[in-house]
Amino acid sequence: MKLSKEPSVAPDRRPNRVGAQDAQARIGIDLGGTKIEIICLEPSGQLSYQKRFSTPRASYPDLLQALDHAIQLADPEPDPRLMKPIGIGTPGAVSNKTGLMKNCNTTELNHQNLAADLSQLTSRDVKIANDADCFTLSEALDGAGRGHNCVFGVILGTGVGGGIAINQTLLAGPNAIAGEWGHNALALDRLRSDYDFPWPRGRSCYCGQIDCIETWLSGDGVTKSYEALTGERRSAAEIFDNPNRSEATQKTFDQYSQLCALALSTVINLIDPDIIVLGGGLSKTPGLCQAIENQWAHYVFSDQVATRIACAQHGDASGVRGAARLWPAGFKGS
Ligand SMILES: [Zn+2]
Repeated sequence: MKLSKEPSVAPDRRPNRVGAQDAQARIGIDLGGTKIEIICLEPSGQLSYQKRFSTPRASYPDLLQALDHAIQLADPEPDPRLMKPIGIGTPGAVSNKTGLMKNCNTTELNHQNLAADLSQLTSRDVKIANDADCFTLSEALDGAGRGHNCVFGVILGTGVGGGIAINQTLLAGPNAIAGEWGHNALALDRLRSDYDFPWPRGRSCYCGQIDCIETWLSGDGVTKSYEALTGERRSAAEIFDNPNRSEATQKTFDQYSQLCALALSTVINLIDPDIIVLGGGLSKTPGLCQAIENQWAHYVFSDQVATRIACAQHGDASGVRGAARLWPAGFKGS
């Protein structure tokens, strides 16, 4: 594996790029299945522009047009030499085999060359990376993972993703899936023998496998676990955000933290990170980090667990900040 992750980059089509004076600022886009966030990140780390809007899902051309419009609003600079570069974080990845998007839950993106198409439409430089990788890069550079050599970033939300940063650089592999732990099987057979686990096993995953980590640790996984106890179907936010935890809510939370500890123990056994940074909607559940830390020693193959665990310093903004940071600071155009 190489240690320098190179996101998908569209070829530069603009003339006369040399000489740009104020292009250090970068545009970051978090392209999600339901919403899109776009920012302008200044060299200081401050945001000079921020906007969110719903993701158009009618067609791929519609999505491209919406992104082009949003970019023009964020950076109305008409001079191609001064236009800010674009970094995009999105679920899924760019196939090293075909150069096209793959594994996107925004399915109209799959099999498309988003970087090249958007670069052509906007006459700007475009890089694309997985959203969990963008999150990890952001937290490793100036977030909760700052100063640590090895950072494992985790997204616990609609999906479950991950990324690895070593010395503030994203780890890449030949399959463009470094850190993608969500579709490994959760080793339910390794749960503590004294832990009461009444939930039926064998959850099907859209990837074709059974009991993927994502089927238990995603928001939908929490909904299923709670529903199995109560017969009531509620979103993960409705279940965990209520400060008055019912017995079923507490049991669901205990199961969730136990399974997080079990799943993260395999990450620690494999790459032994200095810190694990949690992001995504479920990471905001009060007491989650502490509950995981209290339980993972049962599953880690070591006489101690010195690994730290923390919530994202930049919260929901980490993904889009990391997308902008796909371009190095001081970039002045190619
Ligand atoms: Zn799966």
